Amino acid sequence: MTPERYAKILRVLSKRQPTLTVLMDQVNKPHNLSAIVRTCDAVGVLTAHAVPPGNGKPLDFEGNTFEATSGSAHKWVRVQTHTDTLETVRELQEQGVQVLATHLSQRSVDYREADYTRPTCVLLGAEKWGVADAAADAADGNIIIPMFGMVQSLNVSVAAATILFEAQRQRLAAGMYGAPQLSPDELARLAFEWGYP
Ligand code: SAM
Repeated sequence: MTPERYAKILRVLSKRQPTLTVLMDQVNKPHNLSAIVRTCDAVGVLTAHAVPPGNGKPLDFEGNTFEATSGSAHKWVRVQTHTDTLETVRELQEQGVQVLATHLSQRSVDYREADYTRPTCVLLGAEKWGVADAAADAADGNIIIPMFGMVQSLNVSVAAATILFEAQRQRLAAGMYGAPQLSPDELARLAFEWGYP
């Protein structure tokens, strides 16, 4: 590995946001999964979560079908798979993460009103069905991107990008990209893993 490459890896890892994540609930189109993970990389998500459709089926990324099992690594964003959305929402909450479901309900607020400087997981729904009511009810909040057109919803990867870049904006303003959020040990471990895959 060249020194430039190593410097880039350190630069990227020093901006990773271990307290920002997404949970993709049955998102099933490979290009949507790929686009969401790419946005995760851009804003610094360290680990994304997914409940793949069809129990136990591997996640199918555009041009790259691979088994993203718990603990295994996507190239730059770890994608941890789970089998049950509600259980995963509760697990994240037990870890002190607020789960914000992208879901239209009585309690939905404009996504810009949420505080993404807190440990946050954005729950994204399936292309066809959206987020299940039970998971949306269990979430700490429901957020929505206001829509003024004829069509009722955005593509899921577009919605993910819109919300994650608002999270990036807030975290930048709070100085959260200014100092590493990873512990020195974790940063060194990941630098080695990324540098020598
Ligand atoms: N018919 C589905 C429904 O009623 O929810 C539409 C699902 S939409 C195509 C797929 C996902 O994109 C949603 O579950 C949500 O995660 C996200 N999404 C789309 N439009 C959104 C919006 N305006 N605000 C927030 N999330 C949105």
